[in-house]
Amino acid sequence: MQEIRVELTKNPKQKPAPGAPLPFGTIFTDHMFIMNYDEGQGWHDPRIVPYGPIEMDPSAMCLHYGQSVFEGMKAYRAQDGRILLFRPDKNMARLNVSNDRLCIPPIDEELAKAAIEKLVSVEKDWVPSEEGTSLYIRPFIIGVDPHIGVHPAHHLLFMVICCPVGAYYPEGLDPVKIYVETNYVRAVRGGMGFTKTAGNYAASLKAQDEAEKQDYTQVLWLDGVERKYIEEVGTMNVFFVIDDEVVTPALQGSILSGITRMSCIEMLKSWGMKVSERRLSIQEVADAAAEGRLKEAFGTGTAAVISPIGHLKWGDDIMEINNGEIGPLSQKLYDTLTGIQWGKIKDEFGWTVEVK
Ligand SMILES: *Cc1c(COP(=O)(O)O)cnc(C)c1O
Repeated sequence: MQEIRVELTKNPKQKPAPGAPLPFGTIFTDHMFIMNYDEGQGWHDPRIVPYGPIEMDPSAMCLHYGQSVFEGMKAYRAQDGRILLFRPDKNMARLNVSNDRLCIPPIDEELAKAAIEKLVSVEKDWVPSEEGTSLYIRPFIIGVDPHIGVHPAHHLLFMVICCPVGAYYPEGLDPVKIYVETNYVRAVRGGMGFTKTAGNYAASLKAQDEAEKQDYTQVLWLDGVERKYIEEVGTMNVFFVIDDEVVTPALQGSILSGITRMSCIEMLKSWGMKVSERRLSIQEVADAAAEGRLKEAFGTGTAAVISPIGHLKWGDDIMEINNGEIGPLSQKLYDTLTGIQWGKIKDEFGWTVEVK
């Protein structure tokens, strides 16, 4: 494995005071990881350097054609001071799935994981310790050839930046209001929906903006072809509890394979619950709600972990789920998953990795 060089900053920033607000994605740590790809040389020169702007040619390809992929993960501070990562191998494997779809040369997953561990170790004093806080980690890759021509890049950067983030739910889990998006679509099969690439989020901005104007938190996306089948909610995967079956849409090319989703499925199965990954139409959910069989609904993702859905609107059909309160299964998943992530309960699945 290539050696990761470290150049420490001579001007460390003032860290936020303990308990100070940490708005998501606004405060960055002192260092970042960077590695170059140049055709003929492969990925080379992995290094941790002081955080700061990078220089790019205005014609850099990522700025024009969106050849860019990313990941999102967190480092958690346990009560005993240890710093834990959650299934980082899954993030690196998924990054290579995104890379393949975007014609980005694959990264060495072991090197990338080592880079993240080393960066978090360098920034360990930036990992906050208040309840519910964490260090958000953003690995990303961009094509930077100075060339306005549509083709896969020959020169790329792999970078990792980190930001301390506050508790997602400072006042406890609060169910959100979601509406079913019937106008815009996020992704289609054969497209890039299964990858974490910039374009998917550009495609989602308009719907998100309209949802917020109508006082909704996010939208529930339907499939782009028939506009019948449920895909995701905002930037989270989605689960419904119908009778005693827990249903989540099957991964079929337009849905992101969430690591929180995967972990919830594995936990639910270990509890002996019936979990189905299958096609689920919005009509089926509406029927279940009308018949009193829709017990819970929730989104899953690294940022919120579990986001209960209390109110779902599909045209004129308004579904109040569990009286707008968090359901017992959502609460149990949240408590168990966050318990493992913050090292409060025994990690029977072997999901956490300690950063030394
Ligand atoms: C990142 C993401 C998710 C959640 O994935 P996790 O690995 O659980 O954080 C779900 N949907 C979309 C579109 C995403 O970008």
